[in-house]
Formats: sequence, structure tokens, C-alpha cells
Amino acid sequence: MIATVSKVQCLNDCKRKFYFQYIEKIPVEQTKALKKGSKVHSLLENIENLKEENTEEFKIALNFKNSDLFKKYEDVILNSEREKGIGIKIEAGKLVPCEFSDEKAIFRGRIDLLGKDTIIDYKTGKFKDNQDFTQLEWYAIWLFLKNPDLDKIKISFLYVEHLKENSKVYYKENLKNLIKNFLEQIKPVFTFEREPKNIPNRTWKCDYCQFKSECDKDFLGDF
Ligand code: SF4
Repeated sequence: MIATVSKVQCLNDCKRKFYFQYIEKIPVEQTKALKKGSKVHSLLENIENLKEENTEEFKIALNFKNSDLFKKYEDVILNSEREKGIGIKIEAGKLVPCEFSDEKAIFRGRIDLLGKDTIIDYKTGKFKDNQDFTQLEWYAIWLFLKNPDLDKIKISFLYVEHLKENSKVYYKENLKNLIKNFLEQIKPVFTFEREPKNIPNRTWKCDYCQFKSECDKDFLGDF
């Protein structure tokens, strides 16, 4: 069993959605927004050599490359490891950083840009004032564990379509609290996977759920 940020967020949103996605593994088509995000990400992976194409995604990537936001982060972007897969496991009761592919990993993730003391995630969606930093906080735990000499880590979401950023700095003193929160939040994923319960959470978010038609069948029957 392995926790990911997406799994934790999905479980918090709706247990039934988690059940469809991770227990029954019902295949779904990627949404338009997800397809766009993934295409922009793959263009940005090779930002030095953007090859011209007549697509919305190319325009977003090029616009970002010509922006002040890119200039501000240029050095970090060009000198960071890209799409770095990471893992965290438990050994002798302690959290230990590991590779993405490590079979003992209890948590896995992928970092868009990993610098010496910087973690960056590209976002294509709308800018959020009330940013949820959970994803990058957990990647920061990995980096603090990997490099115990680091005093601080800067984590940033770069909104490449809207050319804005949301950043935060974490200090080594924050690590204990970050780990406490991390363990509290991933635990329900393991509990749920052991004893899955198909419980719906009908909210306005259902209109955007990729399992809505599957879910509605149980509510609407054959009507
Ligand atoms: S449609 Fe709503 S209740 Fe059904 S799985 Fe999706 S989020 Fe949950």
C-alpha cells in the first residue's frame, strides 16, 4: 500500500470516488484540463528547446518562457532536476527518504523541479489565493530527510498560465510538525484500503467528478 497526495485528496473529497478510482480501478478518460496540464508539463520539461507548434499548450509554455516570472526563477529552472520521482519509507520506526521505485515506500510523488534547497511545481489551473501547500510540504519532508544539513527549503507553485506564484519557506524547526501532519493525513488511506467503504459524499463537486455517471446509476437506477 502506497499513499500519494492525489489519494489523500481523493479520500478527503469522497470515499466513493476513492473506491471507484483506487479499489475498483474503473478506467476513466482524462478531463480536458488534465490533458492540457500534462501537455504543458511535458513542454516545460524541455523548456530550453521549445519546438514551435500551433497549440494552446505551446502558447502557454512560450508565454511563460518570455515572462518576468520565468526570469525570476530562470537559474533554478535551468539547473534543477526535472520530474524527480521520490519516496518515503519507514525503517526502525523512522521516516527514511527512498527512491520512487522502492518497494518499501509508503509514500510516492514526482517533483516538477528539484533544486538544492528549492522545490517547484508547475500549475496550469487558476491561481489560488488560499493555496494548499500540502503536496510540496510532503516533498519538502523528503528533501529535509535526504539532506540533513539543509536549514531551509523554499517551496513554490508557479502558475505558468496566469504568470503568478505562491511560495513559502520552511525551516528545519518546522520538520517535526510537517511529519506529524503527514503521518496523520496518510494514515486514513491505509485504513481505508484495508477496509474500503463505498460511501458517497454528494456535494456540488459531484458535477465535476469523473465517476458521476457510474455513481448516478446507483441513485437513479434505470430512470
Ligand atoms: S459523483 Fe459525487 S458522490 Fe459520486 S463518487 Fe463522485 S464525488 Fe462521490
